[in-house]
Amino acid sequence: MDPDPRIEVPRRMPTAFVSHGAPTLALDAGKGADLTRWAAGLPKPRAVLVLSAHWLDAPPTLGAREPRPLLYDFAGFPRALHELRYAAPAAGELARELESRVPGLGRDDERGWDHGVWVPLLHMYPSADVPVLQLSVPWRFEPARLFELGRELAWLADSGVLVLGSGGAVHNLGALDWGGDGSPPPAWALEFEDWLRGCLRARAFDELVAFRDRAPALRLAHPTDDHFVPLLVAAGAVADRGPEVTFPIEGFEYGSLSRLSVQLG
Ligand code: ZN
Repeated sequence: MDPDPRIEVPRRMPTAFVSHGAPTLALDAGKGADLTRWAAGLPKPRAVLVLSAHWLDAPPTLGAREPRPLLYDFAGFPRALHELRYAAPAAGELARELESRVPGLGRDDERGWDHGVWVPLLHMYPSADVPVLQLSVPWRFEPARLFELGRELAWLADSGVLVLGSGGAVHNLGALDWGGDGSPPPAWALEFEDWLRGCLRARAFDELVAFRDRAPALRLAHPTDDHFVPLLVAAGAVADRGPEVTFPIEGFEYGSLSRLSVQLG
């Protein structure tokens, strides 16, 4: 018997990590098209849960479950960025599911989406028809605890929700060459990114979690952990599947800023 088409079968989703680059990505049709193509090749999720490097509160805290104004949490960028809107629905139902299944989550009903959320999503889901919820990244947690937080979210990926970490694979704002888009990345950036790719390809999640001891050129690639650790949560959410790992977007911009994005699942 054919399945009843009125019954929506939950899709098994991969998890993902996006290097969101500079806020001007929002206005960049060329780089944006890479994100659009990537998302179009994934099953369409029933909602997206985003963990952005730009919201670092502990405990892990759920953002607004009703529409709120976007946060333009950057300075010195073109005025046009402040005029952008992203009117996807807020995933209130997902917030309630998370509260009932994951103990100890905080709640901030006033918190709108920061640019780590809306900049990649306006390219990934340009129709703004996928409900969105943000969960803060408690970045001062030990890495193993962030990975465990991902494990606590594994059921989401099996029920049609895209868990999306948003940060940067190599992210040192002090080392950027703003005029040098297309200039070759420095050796330390390549060295760190090669290590990261190797860990992911080998599914060596223990090595990934031990990044503070194991990653080469760590404090050049990441002076602080905030743009790296959303990846630990995304990886934890599919680690027990032994996921396929692919890199749908690669390359560098502004010298050392990695565009590497990761699909796990
Ligand atoms: Zn950022």
